[in-house]
Amino acid sequence: TNEVRLQKAIADSGVTSRRKAEELITGGRVSVNGTIITVLGTKVTDNDKVEVDGVPLTKEEKVYILYYKPSGEISAVEDDNNRRTVTSKFEGLGLRIYPVGRLDYDTSGILLLTNDGEFTQYMTHPKFEVTKTYRVKVDGILKRHQQKEMAKGLQLEDGKTAPAGIEIIRDKKDRNMILDVTIHEGRNRQVRRMFEYFDLEVLKLTRIKYDFLDLDKLSEGEYRFLKPHEVKKLI
Ligand code: URA
Repeated sequence: TNEVRLQKAIADSGVTSRRKAEELITGGRVSVNGTIITVLGTKVTDNDKVEVDGVPLTKEEKVYILYYKPSGEISAVEDDNNRRTVTSKFEGLGLRIYPVGRLDYDTSGILLLTNDGEFTQYMTHPKFEVTKTYRVKVDGILKRHQQKEMAKGLQLEDGKTAPAGIEIIRDKKDRNMILDVTIHEGRNRQVRRMFEYFDLEVLKLTRIKYDFLDLDKLSEGEYRFLKPHEVKKLI
């Protein structure tokens, strides 16, 4: 089991912030295996019994939520401009959950939320390359040769994109089209920028797949808890 600093173990349990946890430690209110510890940074593992004022830390239950994010929510816990965030809906749960990665304010679709920091780190690490599919409504037409170019990789400001999957869902209609783009990377505004490369504006962007997860019966703004076997399959 992994070692963490005592103040982090306390903060992670949801008792208080890390800063307040440090005050509890230096104030002599924290014991590890029955001994009061006042040294910040003392390492503990899951096997150590940590108590604050004689009360054992209770681990916050880990939850994993598949949320059909509507457009018009910011992927953060708080927003300086008081816009609605993706965690607004879950405030009543009393859990400290936050989004796993991000979707743009005006992007909808699958967003995972959790209170499991290790899970988040794993899922968002570039080297694990989660496969994501976006349904894109484009203002204009992505021509056949442009589709091929996009599939091979485009030279964007921050480097060349990795090969992408392109599937046409609806060809030209009223001068726009709908396609599914599958990518393994998650750069900032990547899909929008891939279309901007061809001077095309994305009118609607929805993440319809995240690894093996899809939106199945959910409607915008709805959510469900992942089942333990689904969480296992992701990590
Ligand atoms: N690509 C984008 O451009 N926006 C998103 O929100 C996700 C992927």
